Amino acid sequence: MTSSHALFERALARIPGGVSSPVRAFGSVGGEPFFVARGEGAFLEDVDGHRYRDYVQSWGASILGHAHPAVVEAVAKAAAEGTSFGVPTAREVELAEAVCERVPSVEKVRLVSSGTEAAMTAVRLARGATGRDKVLKFAGCYHGHVDALLVAAGSGVATLGLPGSAGVTGGAAADTVVVPYNDEAALDEAFARHGEDLAAVLVEPVAANMGLVPPAAGFLAGLRRRCDAAGAILVLDEVITGFRLGPAGAQGRFGVRPDLSIFGKVLGGGLPLAAVGGRADLMDELAPLGPVYQAGTLSGNPLATAAGLAVLARLDEGAYAELEHRAARLAEGLHDAISGEGVSVQVPRVGTLVGLFLASEPVRDYEEARAADQEAYGRLFHGLLRRGVYMAPSAFEALFVSLAHSDEDVDRTVAAAAEAAREVAGEGS
Ligand SMILES: *Cc1c(COP(=O)(O)O)cnc(C)c1O
Repeated sequence: MTSSHALFERALARIPGGVSSPVRAFGSVGGEPFFVARGEGAFLEDVDGHRYRDYVQSWGASILGHAHPAVVEAVAKAAAEGTSFGVPTAREVELAEAVCERVPSVEKVRLVSSGTEAAMTAVRLARGATGRDKVLKFAGCYHGHVDALLVAAGSGVATLGLPGSAGVTGGAAADTVVVPYNDEAALDEAFARHGEDLAAVLVEPVAANMGLVPPAAGFLAGLRRRCDAAGAILVLDEVITGFRLGPAGAQGRFGVRPDLSIFGKVLGGGLPLAAVGGRADLMDELAPLGPVYQAGTLSGNPLATAAGLAVLARLDEGAYAELEHRAARLAEGLHDAISGEGVSVQVPRVGTLVGLFLASEPVRDYEEARAADQEAYGRLFHGLLRRGVYMAPSAFEALFVSLAHSDEDVDRTVAAAAEAAREVAGEGS
């Protein structure tokens, strides 16, 4: 069988950097990526025969774990009936209804194929509806690789140490206002200067692409208040938090009602599907009813809607309680194991979402996230990998627990983290 190394060599010749998305390349942690042969529940198996407890879980998309039988069955059944039509299907309606039932601020939904597309659509819609140009985003928040939003963008951009991206015109970025996360004074200043020109404020309600950074008390409510005063559209990017923090995502948890929301990851059940949704009057500005154009050949894809519906059907109260229990066990375990070896660590947790910073103080924004010890994270990452635990190959990502992770999986992960942290402490001194 072909090894990961041999595949990577071939990939480097024909795929830029050998990967289809930058963070996968292990650039910031060193070494070479492994190639996955199959996933099952909490586990990944690579083509070299190694097994890993997986805390990436397709960047949070696989909340039931890999190859969940209900998802596999739903997708197989859908595939046998045809993979794409470009004609309406019943499951698009069912999925839109399922989203509206769970998220009270969402009255109508447009299905798209990626979170990037959803963010792009939300920005265009907000600009079209308000007749304004500017959008405000927060440093370290990632909203996909939309030109206007690739400024101080967290995630892969942060992993590569880039301020933004080449190929984004000055014009595309000129209407983007960037403010530090959790910084009310900077927000006041930005609204005083740009409030009347702001079409939208985009925010990750729990920032999960600069590591995990919870919103400070009152931060989200303050955004709602400022947007109302300025006539700007509040867009919550719930691509990670949606259907993970609970049925109504972060907005349910923190009691904030956005005008628009974007979803992805969990909603697609591991297939390419995302959505933008919100106030009916705004959503009706989209074509074919309104003047804001948006379209997609594969939008509302039959396989993806089948997977999404199968996943949502399993995410009841009990499932979220179990996931939260597991996340808490992991967060407490990792904190005690790593700090117990004398390595400074912060393990923030918001409900079912966990983060990890090698830092001595809690992290509140992008600047503090970047000040965490990334070099030590790389060593911890490899120590864990050697012990069969796969965390994100970047210090700027969250840890994703799935319903397939058992208490035993978590406990073994924590034991591996203690050993890996011992090596980090030993090498560091
Ligand atoms: C992953 C992500 C996106 C982009 O979604 P893609 O499907 O990768 O385009 C947007 N926003 C957030 C918060 C994300 O985590």
